[in-house]
Amino acid sequence: MTKSALNNTIISDEVEEPPSSRLTTGETTDEEPPGKTYAHGNNGLFNSVPASDWNDWKWHFRNRITNVDELARLISLSAEEQAQLKLVTAKYPISITPYYLSLIDLNDRHDPVRKQSIPCIEEITMGILGMEDPLEEKRDSVVPGLVHRYPDRVLMVLTDICPMFCRHCTRKREWHHGGWVRTNEQIEPMLDYIRHHEEVRDVIISGGDPLTLSTERLESIISRIRQIEHVDIIRIGTRFPVVLPQRIDEELCNMLSKYGPIWLNTHFNHYHEITPESAKACDRLLRAGIPVNNQCVLMRGINDDVETQKKLCQGLLKIKVRPYYLFQCDEVQGTEHLRTPVETGLKIIQGLRGHTSGLAVPHFVIDLPEGGGKVPLQPDYILAKTGAEMIIRNYNGHIFRYRNPGAEQLEMKEIINAAEKAEIPRQPVKVGVRVGVKDAGRISLRP
Ligand code: SF4
Repeated sequence: MTKSALNNTIISDEVEEPPSSRLTTGETTDEEPPGKTYAHGNNGLFNSVPASDWNDWKWHFRNRITNVDELARLISLSAEEQAQLKLVTAKYPISITPYYLSLIDLNDRHDPVRKQSIPCIEEITMGILGMEDPLEEKRDSVVPGLVHRYPDRVLMVLTDICPMFCRHCTRKREWHHGGWVRTNEQIEPMLDYIRHHEEVRDVIISGGDPLTLSTERLESIISRIRQIEHVDIIRIGTRFPVVLPQRIDEELCNMLSKYGPIWLNTHFNHYHEITPESAKACDRLLRAGIPVNNQCVLMRGINDDVETQKKLCQGLLKIKVRPYYLFQCDEVQGTEHLRTPVETGLKIIQGLRGHTSGLAVPHFVIDLPEGGGKVPLQPDYILAKTGAEMIIRNYNGHIFRYRNPGAEQLEMKEIINAAEKAEIPRQPVKVGVRVGVKDAGRISLRP
């Protein structure tokens, strides 16, 4: 497939397969590299690829590894592993960008990048657990492709095409559908809905991955959203900065910079994903006026310990990306082997809060099934409370009394309101005056 044919595939209105995968290491080209040339990843698999190809996101997209035979030519897989992978990929296909594959440590079977991209047999042996669509996104679709769940924001799903298939993906169910992009005829009713709902002030563009669309196509959609006066912000959800950072090129950033405020949420899960290329991509976005937040998914054997999360969050701050959410892995069929107990997330937050900058502590959230929405969870720092006082544990386990001003009166007010609601006859109520504990009297009960 030629490059122009590839372009057509990406921007096409037709329902098409993503571009076929044809790995062409060592191919020559007369194109100039668009920017600085980096080493091609960690493992040397692609060292012979010319810089002009390596720095071209369309080359990576065209050369994604999409079947087990191709993968086995690149990394060592036993015959048994290949047979197992073929079973898994019949249900949940494979797609890995050369860039992302280049980050794998080939000597480590438990490499976190490998576990996110190369299938494993548990995807089907444990596949009975979980749900196809735990968040019930289809239920909240107000027009095809537009989800309106929360009062002031909507989610526009523009495509199901992704730069790669992450094994933990919540939308794994969509991988079967072969790759589609919303047509203009489908996008117009979405925009119309937003135009007629003035409460919508935040539009989230998602997929699949919306940055698989051509920059021109994206601009035609974003510019029309921007014309809607009551829309304050546009958000883009994309994993490109992590799995194919070359996509964040000057052309894209120049386009996005015209339609701010735009926020971008991306999805680093491990500090090994923070590379010179991904740092450069995030820097480009920031220079274009686009703040970048990170939404990490907590996964067994990948990032489910305090040290890994600390290195990830601190690494993100170094590249000026804000650690925003740490998600409990959704109850999705084919991901059970990656899910952790909720307590693991709570322990991680406890291990971060106070032990590193507050900016490096994400919100730990569960996205509740059946469309219940996101709920933040915190370790319990309040050990006991009365009307006037709380007993609070700090980050390193010391316990303090805390005078809670006004709480006694608040509590009394609540009692009075409840009594009035229940139409209990009024009795003379005496609200006591409390002196409180002097600051000097606050003591640590346990060192
Ligand atoms: S890029 Fe996002 S939507 Fe696509 S497979 Fe990965 S997690 Fe899922």
